[in-house]
Parts: sequence; C-alpha cells; structure tokens
Amino acid sequence: MGEKSRYAVVHYAEIGLKGHNRPFFERTLARNIARRLDGLGLEQVERLSGRMLVRLDRPLDQPGWKEALNTVFGIAHFSLAYLAAPNIDSARSTLLELLPTAPVESFRIRATRDDKSFPLISPEIERVLGAAVQERTGWPVRLKGAELVIGVEVLRGRIILSFGRLPGPGGLPVGASGRVGLMLSGGIDSPVAGYMALKRGCRVIPIHFHSRPFGNWMGAEARAREIVRAMTVYGMEPFFYVVPIGRQQREITVHIPEAYRVILYRRLMVRVAGAITRREDGLALFTGESLGQVASQTLEGMAAVEAVATVPLLRPLVGMDKQEIVEIAQRIGTFELSMMEGDDCCQFLMPRRVVTRPQLRQVAEIESGTEMERLVAEALDQATRVTVE
Ligand code: ATP
Ligand code: MG
Repeated sequence: MGEKSRYAVVHYAEIGLKGHNRPFFERTLARNIARRLDGLGLEQVERLSGRMLVRLDRPLDQPGWKEALNTVFGIAHFSLAYLAAPNIDSARSTLLELLPTAPVESFRIRATRDDKSFPLISPEIERVLGAAVQERTGWPVRLKGAELVIGVEVLRGRIILSFGRLPGPGGLPVGASGRVGLMLSGGIDSPVAGYMALKRGCRVIPIHFHSRPFGNWMGAEARAREIVRAMTVYGMEPFFYVVPIGRQQREITVHIPEAYRVILYRRLMVRVAGAITRREDGLALFTGESLGQVASQTLEGMAAVEAVATVPLLRPLVGMDKQEIVEIAQRIGTFELSMMEGDDCCQFLMPRRVVTRPQLRQVAEIESGTEMERLVAEALDQATRVTVE
C-alpha cells in the first residue's frame, strides 16, 4: 500500500444498542476516541451509521495510533482506510492503486452498502472488485479465512476502502454505563478490577486508603498515583481520593480482639468509600477481591463487609485465579507499578491471625465496642481529592 492514509475506520459491536442508547453510546465513543488521539494529530471523528471515520492531519503510518485506538473501550476492530468517489469505477481504480505489493495467499472483498441508491448491491460490488483484483494480481479468492480482507463501504457521497482489520479492546465506551467508585490499594488486584470497570463502560473514581501518619504511607500514595496515571490511557479520570486512616486503625486495634481487626478495617473502608462514591454520584463500588485468595476473602468475610455497604459492591475478579489476574496486570502495565515500595495499608497494624469465617452477628457485636460512627466521620473528613498531572 504505497499511498499513505490519513483515515482509520472504527467499528463497534452493536449488540444491545437500541433506541436512545445508541446515539448516547456513539457520542461517548466518539468523544473518547477524540480525547485519546488528541496530540496525535486528530482532525475529526465523524459518526457514520454503525462506524466512525477518524481523520488525522498526518499519515497514519507513525507509531502510536494503533496502540491508542487499542485502548479505547467500545471499539471492536479498526482499519486503515482510504476514500474513493461514490461510483464503482472510482472504487476500482483507487483499490487497484492501493493493493499491497507483497504477494497475498488469498483475499476477499467484503462490501456493505449504506447508500441503497447505489446501482450495485453488495454481492455485485464484491464480484466486480474481486474480479478486478484477481485479474491484476492472480491472488485466489477465499471467502472464509482469507489472508487479506478488503472492506468496501458504500456511503452517500463516498466509498471507504480498508485493508485487513486490527482488533480493538472490545467492551463499552467509558462513560456509557455511569459512575462507580474503585477501592484502589496499589496491590496487583485492584487496578485490574478498575480496568474491568472501565471496560464495561464505567467512569471510575479511585479511592485509596493509607496509614498516614504511620508507616510508609507516602510510598503507598505515590504508588496509587502512578497506577491512576497509567490507567488514564484506558479512560480513567486523572484524579483519585486519598483517605488517611492510620489513627482510626490504631484505635480499632486497641479495642477489639486481634483476629477481628482486618474485618473492621474493611468495614471502616467500605463505609467511607461508599460515602465518597455516593457523593460523586457513583452507583456501585468495585473491589479487587477474589474468592479464597487470602484468609479474609471468604464468603463469610465478604458478607460481613457487604453488610455495611451503602452501594452495591462489585468484584469483577471473583472467579479468577491469581495467575490470570497477574497476566492482565502485566498486559495493562500496572503490574510493575504494584511492585513499587509502599505499605499495604497499615502493615504494622496487621494481626498475626485473622478470622476466616466471621459471623455477622459477632462482628457487629465486636464492632459496637468501637466508636465506629465517629471513626468513619473522622476519616471522611480527612479525605482529599488528589489530581494526577
Ligand atoms: P490488592 O492486590 O488489590 O491489594 P489483595 O489481594 O491485596 O488486593 P486485600 O488486601 O484483601 O486483597 O484487599 C481486597 C480489596 O480491598 C482490594 O482489592 C481493594 O479493592 C480493597 N482494599 C484493600 N486495601 C485497600 C486500601 N488501602 N485502599 C483502598 N482499597 C483497598
Ligand atoms: Mg492488597
């Protein structure tokens, strides 16, 4: 393909797009593509029916744009594209000019016709252009499993030609599903949970608890910040909430049996995170818990925490093995960051033993030995919103 293209055609999965949902979905996707390609020479994102045409002010042969589009959720696949005038002769001559010079094992044309007034129907377009390509190159046609699929999309006023297709990340455009909180510790799991929330179209508000004024809370906060920064490419907003709870945790340790500390820290965090989420108009709270991964992540443990949640708790990693989670973390670039120095919230306040099958009634009774309401209010009062430049 000698000619350089300044266009990419972006396709999205249309399943579930009905009525009013559709324009909203499309607007959201177009805006996210525009944001992501800002700085790469974006000129325009044009919404066509069932797809989008992205135009840059420079040829799309530079590095970066493929990676960029591959992080925009909602994109099913995309291709380099070229434009031809809306007649079959123009499509044929443009196509022949653009054919790759390297030999191709097999090819097919896949035509779609949006403009129903176009004189040829899709199978006819495929036949005419397929014959032209074959005559020029001798490449065999193969309808299933062709090495090169040439897309021909007939629109009103122009024809889009594209070669091959690159897979997008799938999912739904960030912002299409509403807002959620994310309990972001800085460990390996919670960034992956955040990624899953973004992938399903949620706008994600990360909330990080650390042990200030005790321990290496600075490292923990820096680590969380780097993770948020790394995730902005997937549509994470460049800010997060930081909540110091060192004093509240210490107070809990004084009043209650050691084995119940972790569960009460959790109940404290979930109350605070739920309040922040609601304040931000969020509808649910994501966590990185996975069933049975550590002693506190049992069904009983989850139930004892969930009991005090004021928004639904969502746990996208619940059915995953550690190895699967690690692989995603590596692929999305957060694994390395999770290895940074920093305390796991209040390491020094961690007990030697945790109750693995806490009974709700007993937890509530033990908790009544603390002034939980005040602890929650104090922590909320100390919460700050940190911007990530
Ligand atoms: P992660 O890798 O996300 O730290 P984990 O395997 O260490 O998870 P836990 O320490 O049991 O598991 O934490 C379970 C979940 O609780 C985390 O995935 C996260 O969503 C939330 N959480 C734990 N600690 C914090 C914290 N300091 N700040 C915010 N959320 C937290
Ligand atoms: Mg952790």
